[in-house]
Amino acid sequence: MSAAPQTLVIGAGLGGLTAAALLLHAGHHVTVLESHIYPGGSAGTFYHKGFRFDAGATLAGGFAPGGPHARLAEILGLEWPINPVDPAWVVHLPDGRNVTQWADREQWEAEWRAAFPHTGDFWHTQERLADISWDISSRPFPWPPESPRDLWTIAKALRPQTLQAVPYLSRTIGSLAATRDPMFKTFLDGQLLIAAQTTADSAHALYGSAALDLPRRGVNHVTGGIGMLAQTLVDWIHAHGGKVLFRNWVKQIEVKEGQATAVITQKGQRFSGDYLLANLTPWALAELLGPQAPARLRQEVAHREPTWGAFTLYLGLDAARLPPLTAGHHQVIRDHTQPLGEGNSVFISLSDEADGRRGPAGTRTATLSTHTAVAPWWQLRNTSSESAYLARREKYSAKVLETAEQAIPGLAQAAMLSLAGTPVTFAFYTRRPLGMVGGFPQTSLFQARGPGTGIRNLWLVGDSIFPGQSTAGVTLGGMRVAAAVLQASRSSRPLWITAPFPAGD
Ligand SMILES: Cc1cc2nc3c(=O)[nH]c(=O)nc-3n(C[C@H](O)[C@H](O)[C@H](O)COP(=O)(O)OP(=O)(O)OC[C@H]3O[C@@H](n4cnc5c(N)ncnc54)[C@H](O)[C@@H]3O)c2cc1C
Repeated sequence: MSAAPQTLVIGAGLGGLTAAALLLHAGHHVTVLESHIYPGGSAGTFYHKGFRFDAGATLAGGFAPGGPHARLAEILGLEWPINPVDPAWVVHLPDGRNVTQWADREQWEAEWRAAFPHTGDFWHTQERLADISWDISSRPFPWPPESPRDLWTIAKALRPQTLQAVPYLSRTIGSLAATRDPMFKTFLDGQLLIAAQTTADSAHALYGSAALDLPRRGVNHVTGGIGMLAQTLVDWIHAHGGKVLFRNWVKQIEVKEGQATAVITQKGQRFSGDYLLANLTPWALAELLGPQAPARLRQEVAHREPTWGAFTLYLGLDAARLPPLTAGHHQVIRDHTQPLGEGNSVFISLSDEADGRRGPAGTRTATLSTHTAVAPWWQLRNTSSESAYLARREKYSAKVLETAEQAIPGLAQAAMLSLAGTPVTFAFYTRRPLGMVGGFPQTSLFQARGPGTGIRNLWLVGDSIFPGQSTAGVTLGGMRVAAAVLQASRSSRPLWITAPFPAGD
């Protein structure tokens, strides 16, 4: 019998798959249990009536040299099916100004100078802080630290230039952006809501600066839909002797003497393991542990505010009926006097024109999304009639489409097919309680959540742990967790330690 440890991963989202692949590469036996028939969760692509729709995420960053996806590909020796996109997206502001998020730095500087004169100081500070954040994230940086070893790894990652960030540790983006132009604030709010899950006055200055820099770090379309990132990892895992088992919904984690020992699926099957990773939110983890959940985890889920949900509209489009477009991605903000989200701000993503895998010939797909509070959807779902819930869904579909038409006139006319997704839909397809997506708002580095669960051999992975949401964010988190598991399993020095992702020793 082999002495290699057995690692179980609950969930085939990008965070779980990243950690699974790295542990497999380092010599663990790995089994991923996924409840659905395809991988990717919030960054999955689903098939419906001949179209392939991106369920949530549509644009992926982190593939430039040194970026998390690029480092993962180097370690595993795989290729991602991606195409860079420039411009990344266009922001349509309520006063009619359009701001193009160019990847190219010179074009971007010309753009912000034209759109928001007098904001040079802000952009120079933002760029400096973003450089520091991206530089730190290119090394193992187990934030927040959960062990003396994490502290040591963090200390080793610091460079003299990192110290320049110290005065900004308790600042927000809003505090750096002193301007009388309300559209500038609206612009920042729009960008930060999608990249940090909060607006400028609450977004942490360092995290927010890195988030505002995403277009400049390069964003990509994934050929065949964003779910092909997860599928690429699944294929790699299968090709290297690991298992990804679909239709395996984990309903319980067994704990004996303070150690997680096994999981039980909906079908009653039991899988035992030495190490367990939960690609879940803390709420979902607490549910699976039931009475065995450590007191601290129970307190956490009882006291945390719910995070955002998403309302989505998936359109199958007759490409010939679309107007000429300068970009495939648009963010529309309708009324700057009203809170963002709830159809007042909408992100529109069209599939790549050249990607023939997304639908029948002559068509394109679109995913439209807006942040939404989860509670009202569940109140209707649980306490009212089905018709009240459906009426709200119809109302949101119309509002989102109306907002989107401000950027792409004729979009509604071009739609051959339309499907709506609410937090209830997301709860079903991602198994995330209440359909809460996108992780925690990044308001303070000192309140960031790490992967610890209170059970020695069980870790969280995915967008609930720092650095939070996005395909790149959960990949970084997955790397951190893989390093922690390796350290715990005291495996022999892994092969990929020579690659630019040391295990932290
Ligand atoms: C509308 C929307 C738009 C977004 N846009 C972008 C974007 O453009 N770019 C970007 O980078 N990011 C974007 N994001 C964020 C990004 O999609 C997520 O942060 C990231 O994909 C989350 O990955 P994760 O590892 O946390 O796994 P999740 O996506 O949460 O996946 C978890 C997986 O685990 C499975 N699972 C859960 N519970 C169980 C169980 N008990 N048993 C078995 N399986 C289980 C689920 O079925 C799922 O497959 C967006 C998110 C949303 C919702």
